[in-house]
Amino acid sequence: MKVKRLVTWGGITLGALGMGLAIKSLLPQRFLTDDWVERKPSQPLDTASFPEVEVSFLRCGSITIPEPIAVRGAFTLAPRVMAHSAVLIGHPKALFLYDTGLSSEIDTYLVDQSLFFRKTLGHFQLEQTLGSHLKERGIERSDLDFVLLSHLHWDHVSGIPDIRGVPLRINRVEYEAAKLGLLDAGNGLVQRLLGDNPIEFFDCAGPTYEGFRSSFDVFGDGSIILVPLPGHTAGNTGMFVNRSNGPRLFLLGDAAWVSQNYLRPTTMHPFIWSRVTSDDATARQTLIDLHYYALRHPEIPLIAMHDAELQEKFMKSERHIQAVGRYT
Ligand SMILES: [Zn+2]
Repeated sequence: MKVKRLVTWGGITLGALGMGLAIKSLLPQRFLTDDWVERKPSQPLDTASFPEVEVSFLRCGSITIPEPIAVRGAFTLAPRVMAHSAVLIGHPKALFLYDTGLSSEIDTYLVDQSLFFRKTLGHFQLEQTLGSHLKERGIERSDLDFVLLSHLHWDHVSGIPDIRGVPLRINRVEYEAAKLGLLDAGNGLVQRLLGDNPIEFFDCAGPTYEGFRSSFDVFGDGSIILVPLPGHTAGNTGMFVNRSNGPRLFLLGDAAWVSQNYLRPTTMHPFIWSRVTSDDATARQTLIDLHYYALRHPEIPLIAMHDAELQEKFMKSERHIQAVGRYT
């Protein structure tokens, strides 16, 4: 009798504890950003002398999730659309992609993945493949000079089968870390997607850039600047686009999923966060860095690679700039 009662109470206690943890995981989290002193935004950079750079998000697929999955502490069950996109950059010195979206062959690559994977992260709606986007714009594979990969998670290299032969530029830190497991995970999914495309490494070994610890100036003219945004993966790399024909732009790779992650700041739901983040403390510090950067630079859109809302907003403003024929 005594044992039975003990087991019952034990069960109730564990159940309450489990419930408590589940509720806690939905609540906002404290970030050490309280010492932020309200300051005037920084002086915007004068971009008149930069080249004209065309930027287009090529949305290849999407998945709709409840907001608290993307934004821990969000008190709404409103659906949030997460995009799978590539970004096409037309620079006077090169035509290139930042990340690759999804290829027409993506299903054949995912068929041997676990059921859990296919029902969660791998459960997206294919909208328009990378190959189809390029064809629509009259771009041949051979017209692309290279691809810059923000990081080596499967969903950022999934368009590569559509652009076989195009050189891949990868942060050396990212590749070295991926060799320790990521490339081979899931029956070598990432390795198979990379295929035999040539790989060229870059290092963010240049000077600090607008508060970020180091940088790499891709063309040496200050227009395309790469900065490390580590934590999601070891070498997750952000990219600034500085141009004279439109607003400056800061692409974040997967340092955040949606803008609320750095505006509040807050992580994704911890269940997802812990599965997709390689270094928790570093990834949080990156969110804090982006939080401060966004406060100092309200004029620059900080766009994460899954943030469908900001990507659509950006493309709308690009179409407007093109329609009126000038940017002021
Ligand atoms: Zn991703």
